[in-house]
Amino acid sequence: MREGSETLTETRENNSQLEMSQTITGLPASPGIAIGPAFVLEPGIIKTVKRRIKAGEIKSEQARFVQAITAAESEISAILDDIPEELKEHSEVLKSHLLMLKDRMIFDRTLKTIEDNRINAEWALEKAVKHIHSLFAQVKDTYIRERMEDIEYLVKRVQLLLSDNDSSPNLREMDEPCVVVAHELSPADTVQMFKQNVLAFVTVTGSRTSHTAILARALGIPAVVGLEGGIGGISPDDLLIVDGLKGKVIVSPDQETIADYQAKQQSYISYRLEVIHNSSLPAETRDGYRVKIKANMELLDEIPFVISHGAEGVGLFRTEFLYIANPDKLPSEEELYSSYREVVERLAPYPVTIRTLDIGGDKFVSTIPLDQEINPALGLRAIRLCLKEKGLFWDQLRAILRASAHGEVRILFPLVSGRTEIMQVKALLEQVKDELRENEIPFDENLKTGIMIEVPSAVMVADILAREVDFFSIGTNDLIQYALAIDRVNESVSHLYQPLHPGVLRMIHATVSAAHKAGIEAAMCGEMAGEPMYAPILLGMGIDEFSMNAMVIPKVKRVIRRCHHDDCVKLVDRLLDAPSISEIRYLLEDFLRTHCPEEFDPEEAKYPEFATAGSPLMN
Ligand code: PEP
Ligand code: MG
Repeated sequence: MREGSETLTETRENNSQLEMSQTITGLPASPGIAIGPAFVLEPGIIKTVKRRIKAGEIKSEQARFVQAITAAESEISAILDDIPEELKEHSEVLKSHLLMLKDRMIFDRTLKTIEDNRINAEWALEKAVKHIHSLFAQVKDTYIRERMEDIEYLVKRVQLLLSDNDSSPNLREMDEPCVVVAHELSPADTVQMFKQNVLAFVTVTGSRTSHTAILARALGIPAVVGLEGGIGGISPDDLLIVDGLKGKVIVSPDQETIADYQAKQQSYISYRLEVIHNSSLPAETRDGYRVKIKANMELLDEIPFVISHGAEGVGLFRTEFLYIANPDKLPSEEELYSSYREVVERLAPYPVTIRTLDIGGDKFVSTIPLDQEINPALGLRAIRLCLKEKGLFWDQLRAILRASAHGEVRILFPLVSGRTEIMQVKALLEQVKDELRENEIPFDENLKTGIMIEVPSAVMVADILAREVDFFSIGTNDLIQYALAIDRVNESVSHLYQPLHPGVLRMIHATVSAAHKAGIEAAMCGEMAGEPMYAPILLGMGIDEFSMNAMVIPKVKRVIRRCHHDDCVKLVDRLLDAPSISEIRYLLEDFLRTHCPEEFDPEEAKYPEFATAGSPLMN
């Protein structure tokens, strides 16, 4: 639960007037603290009215709509032309906006509705958007649902252009460092913001996974989104404090509060500098036992963080994003290749593990229509889907192999349940390699092949599978789901999702032992690898590579650097004998308290990116 919004706080008496400061709460979208004047970028509320038109007016009404769309396109194209080199990757989002404007569901539908219903363009557009809304409401995938925000923003722009009332302030008019305040921001605004003196931004709409939030984090700008109670209480030039760590915006703070936040700001900056400085230290225990720490990533935006947070490569590149990004068509082999190549080149000399498409289950893509399934998590997903839709798989395998000519690539196959699947996959991979050789297209002949261990049957036959691949990567998110029969996206059973269940620990241990016996590496890329408190267990079990969200790398490294490997091995011996979750928790807490108490100090929780979610020591 968030704190109550719009808490009015009486502040100091000033010039015999009672000044009021106001605290508005929201979601912390990008960490950091900023203090500065507000630049309110509010296009205002547009009230769309319905107007009937005569048969003779249809053509001119349609032309008015096309004109507004063309004007919106020109605006986006102007920003695209102007985009600085370091933000080049975001041009894809803007290009997708250009396509959205001409999307059948918006463009053709509005033109048709003007004609069929004889109504004005504004109202016809409103109807088209309502229809898209109803379609999006049925989609479960949060990423896709959030693209509705992009559509809404674009439509608002077009409505403004139609209403001839486009007098909203423009970011280009900002002439001093400011905090941008808006109802919502499009990626176009966000890209524009990074060229201006933007200290932070706050919006009414948005979530942590919306484009603007992702961009803000990628570029280090504090942000608070989803402001409860809106921005009605903020006027242009009001002094604002934006606390992107706690999700708070303080309007017209008093001197005492300003001084307090200036100190917090300094302490956060020093903290980040220290973290980043230390994150380049090796992940090595006190007794010299070394593991590899890599990052999980989905978006190219994350690359700067992956590098600055001390990752030794990418242990899991989830490739679903490129398929999700364009709801109209599948990415071509060329598009896949160029994005994989970019990741590989930017991460060089570190290796990048590219996981093949893991669609199905809880991840849907409109361009890959799947039948409704009663149990999608147990249905046609990941490698099963790829082995059925061979054309789709073929293109991706070619793109990954081609990218391997530009740096060290490892290929990872998800949801393998037994040897037959891996043999089928390997046979297909060989055919793709043959085709590339015939056409003299270069790729790495020594490309390493791995499988995710995330299905209990794979654990049971891990010794057999280990003979067929170069490495394992344990996907605890799914392994726990399937081992404990707990739907990982069902909130009502989430309390039963227990990484410390003796059954789960034994599965991880068995997998690592089978890998090492066969002389191959055992990595882990499920969320468990990024939980600092589990690091001693994973070290003791012999996990060779930990792959996690880049933000938590420094914290996990610090825990590893405080441990002795010998102690961790002893801890694991005791945990594997423990009969229950509560006993395991007790032994682990005791270990952490003895060996690395400073790392689990509740004070750490003040910096959310390092908060140890679910850690019993933090509760
Ligand atoms: C996992 O299952 O642990 C994993 C890393 O894959 P995903 O979360 O993408 O299913
Ligand atoms: Mg998985």
